[in-house]
Amino acid sequence: MRHHHHHHHHGTEKISADLKNIYIIVIVLIALYIAFEAWMGFRHNALTLVSDAGHKLIDVFSLSLTLITFWLSTTKARKNYTWGFRKLSVIISLFNAVLVVIVAVTIIWESIEKVIEPGDLAPDGGAISITAAVGFVVNCIAAFLLSLKRSHDVNTMGQFIHTLTDALVYVGMVISGFIIKWTGLAVIDPVISILIALFVLFNIWSVLKESFRMSIDGVPSSVHVGELLDQVRAVPGVREVSDLHIWPVSTVENALSATLVLDDSADRTAVTDTVKAVIKTCGIENSFLETR
Ligand SMILES: [Zn+2]
Repeated sequence: MRHHHHHHHHGTEKISADLKNIYIIVIVLIALYIAFEAWMGFRHNALTLVSDAGHKLIDVFSLSLTLITFWLSTTKARKNYTWGFRKLSVIISLFNAVLVVIVAVTIIWESIEKVIEPGDLAPDGGAISITAAVGFVVNCIAAFLLSLKRSHDVNTMGQFIHTLTDALVYVGMVISGFIIKWTGLAVIDPVISILIALFVLFNIWSVLKESFRMSIDGVPSSVHVGELLDQVRAVPGVREVSDLHIWPVSTVENALSATLVLDDSADRTAVTDTVKAVIKTCGIENSFLETR
């Protein structure tokens, strides 16, 4: 029986100072907008604005997480943390997703109460439109900055698309502000607020599912076990694969361990090297193989 251990690589390429700076600028820009939006929301009794401030707060968490993940994915091994702190990116992701659900559900609850029992203070439609217009501009700037580096990695592409989608949400908010101003229908405010919260819940569901799965060492959705097994079994000399384990090391890096049952005539080193190369093309950087 022989063991092949290969030294693991870092999951991501070195991240450029440019990309880091773009994330920092976008995070600061949106954080400033959140402060403005929440202040306007409470001042003008507009649930739509409070609800969206909650939504953007989550976006800032998610942008920060992406930035932190770039850094965590290159942390070095140490005596009692042999994988570095890479897995922390998964835990942060799960925490973030749970937080989003709590905030969204709270907002929906508050909004329903407002629909059933509207207060004496009517929301200011004009304030909603003006604030949302500022939000539209802020998101367009953020989307433009992210678009400069959107081909860097899947996270940045996702953030770019998300920011564009949010810009559209602001167009809708500007319009609903005008409708509230013209018609005086206060109920539009909590209804829009519920729609925003539902939109957020819809967007976070896949993140929640994936980060939960990754936190209990399930196979990340980027890895297709069936295809991987087919490809490994197709390597000449491999008779069977057993004791297969696939788990995430961080949100951007995976590991695999397995026992390969080889043909008696097979060159163990050559077959193992080929299998490792095949596994790498399936998105798994670290493989630990035992041959039999
Ligand atoms: Zn968003």
